[in-house]
Amino acid sequence: MSFAALAGFVVGALAVLFYRNQIEAPSRITEPETVETGAALPQGVASVLAVLPSSAVVLDAHDRVLRASSAARAFGLVKGDRLMAAELLALARQVRRDGEIRESEIDVAGHKFGQETTNFAVRVAPLGTYGQVLVLAEDQTERRRVEAVRRDFVANVSHELKTPVGALSLLAETIQDAADDPEAVTRFANRMQHEAARLNHLVQDLITLSRIQGAEPIPTPGQVSIDEAIHDAIDYCNTKAAAKDIALVSGGTEGLRIWGDDELLVTALRNLIDNAIAYSPEHTRVVVSVRPANDSVEISVSDQGIGIPEEALERIFERFFRVDAARSRATGGTGLGLAIVKHVAAAHAGEVSVWSKEGSGSTFTLRLPAFGGTAVAVPPSIPLETAK
Ligand code: ADP
Repeated sequence: MSFAALAGFVVGALAVLFYRNQIEAPSRITEPETVETGAALPQGVASVLAVLPSSAVVLDAHDRVLRASSAARAFGLVKGDRLMAAELLALARQVRRDGEIRESEIDVAGHKFGQETTNFAVRVAPLGTYGQVLVLAEDQTERRRVEAVRRDFVANVSHELKTPVGALSLLAETIQDAADDPEAVTRFANRMQHEAARLNHLVQDLITLSRIQGAEPIPTPGQVSIDEAIHDAIDYCNTKAAAKDIALVSGGTEGLRIWGDDELLVTALRNLIDNAIAYSPEHTRVVVSVRPANDSVEISVSDQGIGIPEEALERIFERFFRVDAARSRATGGTGLGLAIVKHVAAAHAGEVSVWSKEGSGSTFTLRLPAFGGTAVAVPPSIPLETAK
């Protein structure tokens, strides 16, 4: 239920309660144990307010707080028997004057750690005939933040899509103009293929990201062999490594397993190995190693590449963040690879961390809970399905 619907329901319910109290039990309109300032609250109102998730405040005819939920106090909306936000008080007075329900948004100077202001959706309603006013306020700072992130994401995706789509359109025009020059047609057709591949890569990454981002559990989890996942990921990246004469080496403990989705694990490893190759000079080594770590399995991908500046380390897992946008595009990067890795780790209740030194190289480590709670190696001769 949306806040407006919930607030509407609560205001309606309180109005009914108030009406019934006036008619049926005028002598029982106080609930002394729930009233804070000694003034009267309609019976039952306090109980309704107590179960509300949002901040609730009831003011008497003289703007004194009759009741305030603990959330309202924690947010600093109420101090003692006073409503602190001047804007809210003005709204309450208007409502008391004309009896009309009002909705608004207000910002209150932040009280949470690291938060400058708290944004509230508020609904103010008259409560009965004694000049009492009900104020409901819901903290929507987090929802606002999520909305802003989503807006940014859509803007970024549009921007990323525009580049290859624009290039394809230009190349198609150029091919038309060069119709009687077969050599030029071949050259431009090749570039079209390249742009189409880039577009395909981006769309694939977006699909993968949206598949795992919902924070839903993996749909069909199963036992995943780390050896097989590494083998598949390396297999996929071999051509790219060979083109730069980069040796792809794997080692460590064999036979370890996790509980999860093999396709997602391969995708995450592929992204890490792909990056290791993309951001390393020719004739270097990329090492993938596995080791048990108590109840987890650690898989690390190390390279001898350009490394990552310290100030960028905490941002590289953000969607579309690149240290060097031109280099990322030149190597066919989408800027989504590490965001996917982070979400794959989270979907497996694991995590990913990074160590890096500019000019020396980087190591990305995936730490995932081991199958069965402890990281034990299964001898290769026992099939996964029967191994316990
Ligand atoms: P991209 O598609 O641009 O590679 P990623 O999300 O995979 O996007 O990575 C984000 C950024 O992190 C990259 O653009 C690059 O600047 C940096 N990065 C990732 N992996 C490495 C690495 N192994 N070595 C150096 N920089 C890296």
